[in-house]
Amino acid sequence: MTAKHVIAIDGPSGVGKGTVALAVAEFLGSTYIDTGAMYRTLAWKAISEGLSVDNESQMERLATQSNFVFDGGRILIDGHDATEKIRTPEIDNAAAKIAQLPQVRTVLVDRQRAFAEDGNVVMEGRDIGTVVLPDAAVKIFLDATPNERALRRLRDKGRGSTETALVDVARALEERDHVDRTRSVSPLTKAADAILVDTTNISIGGVVERVLSIVKEKCS
Ligand code: C5P
Repeated sequence: MTAKHVIAIDGPSGVGKGTVALAVAEFLGSTYIDTGAMYRTLAWKAISEGLSVDNESQMERLATQSNFVFDGGRILIDGHDATEKIRTPEIDNAAAKIAQLPQVRTVLVDRQRAFAEDGNVVMEGRDIGTVVLPDAAVKIFLDATPNERALRRLRDKGRGSTETALVDVARALEERDHVDRTRSVSPLTKAADAILVDTTNISIGGVVERVLSIVKEKCS
């Protein structure tokens, strides 16, 4: 497929959005934008500079002054590759706090829209179909049961799925889901015109195929 596409993929934590969106972008020759990684790198930079992630005006300034670059599945902030550093429990919590600050969201949403300007992007997050790119040609909402998402998280981290580990991860995911779905700014919700794909019993490859067939259907 050589046509340009603006594709929005949303869904809760642990559903496999990142893996699916990257594979879809590679297939289509589009830029892959992981908006969660922007909240995460900002949290990482704030912590590195000893700033409080609860200070909205400081966080807004930090967002305004930061430069984000995506390179395949990697993210650079101010030229620094932060891809691996932003995947820690500390950053999970700090990014979730930053994502609740309306002034920070305004700055980052502007940047996200700018990434989509050339019309050839696969962007994933929580509010892409509802807020960031409401006119996207294709909107997908990925979902899976909490138990399946917890299992995927454990597999991603190379950890065995003992009952205790599963319960712990499922609890952490549920807490983050609750924050995402109930926050006052840009809560996680399916856009009315998004297509729901329940990935519970489908392999990642199967989900990628399903998304690509939706793209073909909508864009041809
Ligand atoms: O997707 P990921 O877990 O990397 O997102 C990191 C944090 O940023 C999460 O707390 C998520 O709720 C938030 N986020 C957001 N809006 C987005 C993408 C992520 O609020 N578009």
